[in-house]
Amino acid sequence: MIELRTPAEITQMRAAGGFVADVLTELTAASAVGVNLLDLDALAHRLIRKRGAESCYIDYHPSFGSSPFGKVLCTSVNDAALHGLPFDYAIADGDLVSLDFAVSVDGWVADSAVSFVVGTPRDEDLRLIAATERALAAGIAAAAPGNRIGDISAAIGGVARDSGYSVNTDFGGHGVGRTMHGDPHIPNDGRGHRGFPLRAGLVFAIEPWLMHTTDEIFTDVDGWTLRSADGSRASHVEHTVAVTEDGPVVLTARAT
Ligand code: MG
Repeated sequence: MIELRTPAEITQMRAAGGFVADVLTELTAASAVGVNLLDLDALAHRLIRKRGAESCYIDYHPSFGSSPFGKVLCTSVNDAALHGLPFDYAIADGDLVSLDFAVSVDGWVADSAVSFVVGTPRDEDLRLIAATERALAAGIAAAAPGNRIGDISAAIGGVARDSGYSVNTDFGGHGVGRTMHGDPHIPNDGRGHRGFPLRAGLVFAIEPWLMHTTDEIFTDVDGWTLRSADGSRASHVEHTVAVTEDGPVVLTARAT
């Protein structure tokens, strides 16, 4: 069921959005060569406690997960595309790191992800990240009243394909509200002018993710981490966006 939020509720959701943005900024700054993924998770946990926020991940146990997630941060490194379960791994020079973070603050959820290279980047990784960011920007720009869900999907998929990447549509954007995952589902590719009509009050996460040379994934033996089928690297970026009469508002925008 798709739910609409009032302008006052969207104002309340800004608290969660701002906190998620600030945590991702802090975690990105802390991601250096030699830093362990478990330390990043522990830092996120401390920031959650300090703020009095509630993790959306730690008890998360959907049908596709083998057990509750148990951490508060997804850390997807290199060929890990999504849902990376933090483990005892020290970030190496040139690693492509994606961090995905969702909490609720005062009962409202925000969900956002960022990708970056630690240390010396490969050009191809920077191109992949840039394409994923352009796809997100195009998806956000399409999130305006009068458009439809399919216009967001088509915008994301168009950027991906124009950039030379194929798209996996198994996981995509989702409604965000009192819980992390609601309707509508927003596939990362699709046909414009199709699907649910966008109107003010819709709040959802838009989250393109791309891999260099495949659109297939498999689940790691940890039961959570989704890795590219061919070992090529992946990038994932996400924002929580409110559709308003004035157009899309990014609730998880980071200070630049
Ligand atoms: Mg997320």
